[in-house]
Amino acid sequence: MTLWDPRLMAGRAPGGPGLLRNFVGGEFVDTGTRFVKRSPVTGEPVFEAVEAGRATVDDAVAAARTALRGPWGRAGERERAEVLRRIADELERRFDDLVAAEVADTGKSISQARTLDIPRGAANFRAFAEIVATAPTESFTTVTPTGGRALNYAVRKPVGVVAVVVPWNLPLLLLTWKVAPALACGNAVVVKPSEETPASATLLAEVMAAAGVPDGVFNLVHGFGPGSAGEFLTRHPGVDAITFTGESATGGAIMRAAADGVKAVSFELGGKNAGLVFADADLDAAVAGSVRSSFTNGGQVCLCTERIYVQRPVFEEFTARLAERAAELAYGWPADEATVNMPLISHGHRDKVLGYYDLARDEGARFLTGGGVPRFDDARDGGAYVQPTVLTGLGPDARTNREEIFGPVVHVAPFDDEDEAYTLANGTEYGLAATVWTRDVGRAHRAGARLDAGIVWVNTWFLRDLRTPFGGVKASGIGREGGVHSLDFYSELTNVCVEMS
Ligand code: NAD
Repeated sequence: MTLWDPRLMAGRAPGGPGLLRNFVGGEFVDTGTRFVKRSPVTGEPVFEAVEAGRATVDDAVAAARTALRGPWGRAGERERAEVLRRIADELERRFDDLVAAEVADTGKSISQARTLDIPRGAANFRAFAEIVATAPTESFTTVTPTGGRALNYAVRKPVGVVAVVVPWNLPLLLLTWKVAPALACGNAVVVKPSEETPASATLLAEVMAAAGVPDGVFNLVHGFGPGSAGEFLTRHPGVDAITFTGESATGGAIMRAAADGVKAVSFELGGKNAGLVFADADLDAAVAGSVRSSFTNGGQVCLCTERIYVQRPVFEEFTARLAERAAELAYGWPADEATVNMPLISHGHRDKVLGYYDLARDEGARFLTGGGVPRFDDARDGGAYVQPTVLTGLGPDARTNREEIFGPVVHVAPFDDEDEAYTLANGTEYGLAATVWTRDVGRAHRAGARLDAGIVWVNTWFLRDLRTPFGGVKASGIGREGGVHSLDFYSELTNVCVEMS
């Protein structure tokens, strides 16, 4: 497979190869200025995308509103679940195209796109088809003041037009994680993918059309954040709720935009996740798991571990083995099955991550491996690669240990007892995920209670059951999605009280 694959020309205009267009009311539209999407692997242009201006965003929101007034607004849960299953079928039919799109946009390895990103896209629709069709609502029988009876029951209704704004790291996975429950609950959506990853979202628009999703139920606007499609959408008075995944600072900006309209928000934000390795842990599993949790997707997963605390008796051994394994991770072209390392998403992001490597040096860190840029002597030297990096020697107050870097870098420090481990892990403004490696059953449960995080994994990482609550505490998010928690955000409950005498 080449980076420039004819199958990638999603939503293309006649005569305009590789042009990714907006999708409004069931039609691809190409009014607007264009921006170039470059390959993170080589720096070469791979796509041109049409930036949605204010008028296109207006049209998209209006199309969504119109769709809600049509048959979609009256569809029952089973009917919507059936539509979700058709979307999943169509995603599976377009599997190779979606893999190619995701690889072209992000530079991730084809094996990861095939086993994680794209399958999870389809799984999101299947899971929420099931969840919405089986979730109960509450009911109470009330004794009235005159001794009669009243029946209370709750009815789920769509929220309306939902704005979905998502980042670039797991583009289809994160987009469908929000679109699937939003549609399951009967809403219409306007989605704004990251400017760095416009391709798979455009293919998703094709998928929606092919699956028979009514026009206007799924709309797509490309563009940037401030002063562009992201801001136009999140400030739009016709939007009823905003669901967002991205940086905590962006969450703050969107919250301010949402405040005027008193709109519901669901935020999945940044992290500075800790891993705790206790001396009783299966060290092989802890090393292998920490390699995954630190370096998967180039460290560009919100759930990735950027700080590991290791109990002192095993600190030296664990740290040496982690650094050794990090240095061995395979570089290769994305199309090579064995490739593990991937480029960062852009040169801009690489500058940020390299800035943190410099900061760590200034703060006095010891680099056990990495710390620079790999050389390939081929076209990948034009890409945005950095070396996987393992650091030690910094205290908890170092900025390197407090700020989200979002790259393949982890700092390792020792601890002595369990209380100290929790204090260190909880010592940042973030609280998304934590990973604990221990064979002590009691400690495994205590960790779940003591760690300030929305998700605590014990002896595993990134193992997801889509029915479970997902989200962050502190600066890592607002609200929970997943299972019925998604239904709670994407629907309004009306309580109906019927006096029965
Ligand atoms: P980002 O916040 O820069 O951008 C995310 C999206 O918001 C993009 O589509 C962008 O165009 C848009 N945007 C930016 N400014 C905006 C504004 N003012 N108004 C409206 N839209 C705006 O994030 P990113 O760099 O794309 O992604 C990386 C971040 O995402 C990291 O912080 C990571 O931790 C976080 N993330 C969190 C989760 C989670 O589930 N908690 C998952 C993945 C990524």
